Amino acid sequence: MKLSEIYEDRAIASNGMPKISFEVFPPKGGESEFPALYQELNLLKKYNPALVSLTWGAGGNNNNSMELVKALLIELKLNVMAHFTCICNSKEKVEKHIKEIESLGIENVLALRGDEPQDIEVCHNDFRYANELVSFIKSKTDLSIAVAGYPEGHIEAPDLQTDLENLKYKVDCGADVIYTQLFFDNDVFYSYVEKVRKLGINIPVIPGIMPVISYKQVERMTSMAKISVPTSLRDNLEKYKASPDDIRKFGIEYASIQCAKLIEAGVSGLHFYTLNKAYSTSHILDNIISFV
Ligand code: FAD
Repeated sequence: MKLSEIYEDRAIASNGMPKISFEVFPPKGGESEFPALYQELNLLKKYNPALVSLTWGAGGNNNNSMELVKALLIELKLNVMAHFTCICNSKEKVEKHIKEIESLGIENVLALRGDEPQDIEVCHNDFRYANELVSFIKSKTDLSIAVAGYPEGHIEAPDLQTDLENLKYKVDCGADVIYTQLFFDNDVFYSYVEKVRKLGINIPVIPGIMPVISYKQVERMTSMAKISVPTSLRDNLEKYKASPDDIRKFGIEYASIQCAKLIEAGVSGLHFYTLNKAYSTSHILDNIISFV
């Protein structure tokens, strides 16, 4: 099912829940670690995900990535959204890749610029920004296209307003849905959506939720991107710093409340950064199912 149909009508979601999606990455260890990922995804399947998105190059590696796409699609019978980055890529390679994706029966891609790889031998300049990839995919395929949004601004953007204007290029080039970077403060998300709408962008904006699983993870994420940590979260992270179990438990509680409030506010979807683990995400979903 295409993105445009998935988020078309909130009312068709069963039991008042927004559409649920899960993000996973190709395991660092390659094919030998695929079975562990399938196991986690099988645990998450009971939440009826509208789609599962598979990252490209980020946090894992792309070795055998197409094999993984095929397995998720054919063996696990998931609606897969493939991420794809265009930086340093040639038009020729991009065309080959997106056509291969489409030929597998995949209907959705998350079109990204990405970050310049450190170890690349030849960096092509065919694509400078994600909006150029969106136009290219649109001109070559029938794929439905998602793009990334940054509620606190992309790290390279001089300010949020400039980043929002750049987001509009991606939408004007044909994006169907925006998935946001994770955030810990819902007010940041509400204010972002308001600004997005003021620019005349009317496509769904799906909040990205990452359950806190460790102190280090929050430190790492907030050093790489503009993500503010509310005082209440920071205090609890300090309090539970030495206890991995307590911090995970607190992370589930925190994200459950965050999601319940987002549902109340009427979001069309919730996109979970699962970190390839079902535990926290499934507990959060159990909690919110009991709220709605
Ligand atoms: P762009 O939209 O091109 O923006 C990059 C910067 O350029 C921004 O500062 C923007 O304001 C500016 N800009 C954009 N367009 C223009 C323009 N036309 N003119 C001038 N300036 C412009 N990374 C991966 O490597 N693999 C993944 O699978 C992956 N998945 C992600 C999923 C989500 C939901 C999110 C939020 C991020 C993901 N990322 C992933 C990270 C992403 O690749 C980086 O944040 C990257 O730095 C920017 O990619 P982008 O597509 O947002 O870039």
